[in-house]
Amino acid sequence: MEIKLSEQQKRNQTAFRDFVNKEIIPHANQHDKEERIPDELIKKLARKRYFGAVLPEQYGGHAMDYITYGLLNEELGRGCASVRAFMMMQNMVALTIHKWGSEEQKERWLGRIASGETIAAFALTEPEVGSDAMHIETSFTDADDSKFIINGHKKWITLGQIADLFLVFGKKRGKLSAVLVEKDTPGLTKIPIGGMLGVRASMLAELYFDNCSVPQENLVGRAGFGFVPVGITALNLGRYSIAWGCVGIGQACLEACINYASNRRQFGDYLKNHQLIQEMIADMTVNLKAGRLLCYQAGQMQEEGHENAIMEIMVAKYFTSKMACTIASNAVQVHGAVGCSSDSAVQRHLRDAKIMEIIEGTSQIHQIKIADYAYREYAE
Ligand SMILES: Cc1cc2nc3c(=O)[nH]c(=O)nc-3n(C[C@H](O)[C@H](O)[C@H](O)COP(=O)(O)OP(=O)(O)OC[C@H]3O[C@@H](n4cnc5c(N)ncnc54)[C@H](O)[C@@H]3O)c2cc1C
Repeated sequence: MEIKLSEQQKRNQTAFRDFVNKEIIPHANQHDKEERIPDELIKKLARKRYFGAVLPEQYGGHAMDYITYGLLNEELGRGCASVRAFMMMQNMVALTIHKWGSEEQKERWLGRIASGETIAAFALTEPEVGSDAMHIETSFTDADDSKFIINGHKKWITLGQIADLFLVFGKKRGKLSAVLVEKDTPGLTKIPIGGMLGVRASMLAELYFDNCSVPQENLVGRAGFGFVPVGITALNLGRYSIAWGCVGIGQACLEACINYASNRRQFGDYLKNHQLIQEMIADMTVNLKAGRLLCYQAGQMQEEGHENAIMEIMVAKYFTSKMACTIASNAVQVHGAVGCSSDSAVQRHLRDAKIMEIIEGTSQIHQIKIADYAYREYAE
């Protein structure tokens, strides 16, 4: 079976690639060093409607199918993991509001997120609660019929430094719930986090909620509607984005290696002719093909609303994040000292790839879920 993109998908892929080659790759190491994405680039991404990639056109979105959205993530991931993460967050929050929000929330926020006027962030993790998300401690306490009070502490929140709107998870009457909180809400304090290993331009922050009063109508879905399905809608799209982004990291590393090995000579011959280098190039090529196929399959299943799409996205994210780490590590190896320099892209890809094994569910949490899936699927 050959996977064939439609003419429109091919045109989009070319447009994404051109944009990334021109606007992102030349500056990606700078984003990493400065730990920020320049406003000008954020505006360019917004003008391309990438922040509303999965939203319908009525909200200013791009209305991409899942394969096209995957191709966008591959290309952005090939350029800069932080830029891809920025775009991913906008789509995660936008899709969640579109799927579970009230009409008022959709009217108020979706167009603004798609246009870049409102920067959105997703706030689930806490200092004491990461993988075990069902046990978050942030509380939503009813004040009266019209508002409730948030107390809690969130950590490692991508774009937390600059976001205008947070999709925050907490417990309301003991039930996991999700709420939209605006940046200027009294009692909300943001503390920037810098110096991370990778995805360094994602402008992380800690968020402190100290008696923040929020209107009841800011709840997304009912109380108790918090993690399943509201959180899963966001995380599923996030994992899909990461899986394709990891294919992009792998592709960038492979291309860098082929270029370097074709020009660097040692022991009287080009690196590309040494068989131990060829082994690494061959393994990169094969794993990349396998990872990309998993992404296509997961995307097609998601597009068709298949009941196993969520699991296939987890399979793809698990495989490709490990794959990206191995490929990026070998890419540094192929480049020798040059690959260790802060000017090289492959060292950035290696640091970024490691983060992919941790965010949106660690590799271990994926293994547990995938094993459960296997026991169900293949039991006699
Ligand atoms: C760059 C970056 C950006 C992030 N952005 C966001 C964001 O925007 N919003 C947000 O809410 N969060 C964000 N996070 C947080 C991220 O989602 C968490 O780091 C992740 O869920 C893991 O939680 P933890 O770090 O607390 O690790 P823990 O859950 O404490 O896990 C530590 C280790 O133990 C392992 N482990 C845990 N439980 C088990 C088990 N049952 N069996 C076996 N092994 C286990 C894990 O796999 C891991 O290796 C971000 C993190 C990073 C690094």
